[in-house]
Amino acid sequence: QIEDLDSNGIGRGKGKNSETNFFDTFDWSQELRFQMRKVFNIENFRLAQEGVCNANMHGRDIVCVMPTGGGKSLTYQLPAILTPGCTLVISPLISLIRDQILHLVEAKIEAVMITSSTSKAEHSQIIRRLTSSPSSNADGPGEIKLCYITPERMANSKIFKSAVQKIADAGRLARIVIDEAHCVSQLGHDFRPDYKKLSALRVLFPHVPILALSATCPPKVLADLLKILGLKPVTDGKNANSDGTVYFSSPLYRKNLLYRVVEKPSAAAEVIKHMVEYILDKHRDQSGIIYCLSKADTEKVATAIAETSGGKIKTGVYHAYIAEQAKESLHEAWRDGKVQVVCATIAFGLGIDKANVRFVMHHSISKSLENYYQESGRAGRDGKNSDCILYYRFQDAFRYVDIVDAHHHSQLQEMLRFCQDIQGCRKVLFAKHFSTSTQLALSSWTSDGSDSLERCGHCDNCERPPESIDERDVTLDAWRILTISKTFKSKGDKITAQKLRDIVRSNGNDAKKIDFDSLGGKVTLSPQDTSTLIIDLLLSNHLKETYHSNAHTTITYIEPGPFAGRLSSLTRAQIEANQGQRIACAFVKPPGRKTKTNTARSRKGDSSGAGPSRGQKRKRPADTDE
Ligand code: ADP
Ligand code: MG
Repeated sequence: QIEDLDSNGIGRGKGKNSETNFFDTFDWSQELRFQMRKVFNIENFRLAQEGVCNANMHGRDIVCVMPTGGGKSLTYQLPAILTPGCTLVISPLISLIRDQILHLVEAKIEAVMITSSTSKAEHSQIIRRLTSSPSSNADGPGEIKLCYITPERMANSKIFKSAVQKIADAGRLARIVIDEAHCVSQLGHDFRPDYKKLSALRVLFPHVPILALSATCPPKVLADLLKILGLKPVTDGKNANSDGTVYFSSPLYRKNLLYRVVEKPSAAAEVIKHMVEYILDKHRDQSGIIYCLSKADTEKVATAIAETSGGKIKTGVYHAYIAEQAKESLHEAWRDGKVQVVCATIAFGLGIDKANVRFVMHHSISKSLENYYQESGRAGRDGKNSDCILYYRFQDAFRYVDIVDAHHHSQLQEMLRFCQDIQGCRKVLFAKHFSTSTQLALSSWTSDGSDSLERCGHCDNCERPPESIDERDVTLDAWRILTISKTFKSKGDKITAQKLRDIVRSNGNDAKKIDFDSLGGKVTLSPQDTSTLIIDLLLSNHLKETYHSNAHTTITYIEPGPFAGRLSSLTRAQIEANQGQRIACAFVKPPGRKTKTNTARSRKGDSSGAGPSRGQKRKRPADTDE
């Protein structure tokens, strides 16, 4: 039996479950942002950039795959400015190097290049500057921060190599960057013999971190690249604790992933039952991951799934506090199919080397849409259809109590918008999100040049028949909710979202404090629809969260938000006369009024039976193979 952590509005213990992760804040974070604005005139990081910078600052080996124009240069230029010593950049194209140098020199960064057109005199001068100690030439130019070189020169200049050896020995070689790193592999489309010689770098400079950059790196090429460059197997940017090569990649639409947001039943045992039925029905003996919000959750879910399935589903637990040895053996057992499902926190990023993950479930929402994209993306790396199922209920929105700063709060809100959406195609929602949050060109979202904004046709929302959606004017109910929230706030009473939902529907003791006659009655929406409306009001700033911590936990309360007045200042008569702001909300119609789904649109291996849509009661056909 799984304890329902949220039934009292209590979130998880503060700080206890935080995983170290390269998207967190570090000592250097402020400086990083400051220099980004000052030197590069760039306001915000795009998707993986900050993580890559952090991993660089941490001194890690990194593979970073981002589309062309994604902004790979910033991921080493910024750390190069912040760290002592010189960053060596190996880049194949003289014209690109020249561009970079121009920008850097303009920004007063000491950057030089060595290419086939570098004269002997220039070459020796650069070598002199590199190898002389930085303090000795106080009057001359400053210490070289970035030195670009083509792979040909790198491979063929003994003098340069010994100069680099010298600064490496003096501890002044900050990192080695290999641009277009896929060129080292003969398995890729762009093999260059001179790149292959870069395999010597790790041998010559065993302690200097390597950053490999590429716009294209399929799994085979990645494995080859790691081998050639002498890099350890990859872990991902969410897991700063392990010592592998940190892998980052920018988003790309993958049409073999079938996305579904399903209503998460309120009883914990029901969630498990649903997951078990689903796995036995659709993915018997196939590998999967269930992402959970906390370490405690991973353990509870793993035990409950094993028990509820009568041992048919073998589960394992993975989180940051599992011993290394146990992590390894779990991974092995999972790879060999001895463990079917890994119940994990975000610390689990090793899925990268397992291609046949057929489903990734989220027991709770992720804390951002980026996180969700990365986590769910561990499914189907072999290109075969795989299911990404997210269990969503409104209470889970309030479990991320460590999200109190504005940035993380807005990230969570994006996640909630995605969950609340019952109409928008998941592919398009991702495309829009990534194109705005990362300023990536929409066209880089679909790799085959197809239209990024064309509906995928096979996600839950594409398969949802339009007749099953009920879009309604709920201004009066919204007004009631805001008025009630205001009443409690004015009395100094704190209420959680769940309590607010119950009160507005005139349930429970606290509801007695409300004069429903003056409101023209209670909210008559179903509990589910009321939750939907409350989240919508939060997302539209009519309501807001406040966080209250004690020694053990942080509780999220709900109170009127900055825009509450737009509605709550109106009288009931004004609302009923359709005056002022109107609030509309889309709900899924209850099953009684449901029409037949269009099965012609379903794809093979499809999982439209995965679960109830929000607002619907769960109703499944009897399992046939049990
Ligand atoms: P890549 O090497 O990945 O092809 P570049 O590093 O050359 O891409 O960057 C492409 C362009 O994007 C450059 O003009 C760069 O200034 C710009 N850019 C990079 N990062 C950002 C950002 N975070 N915000 C806005 N523009 C950026
Ligand atoms: Mg580039």
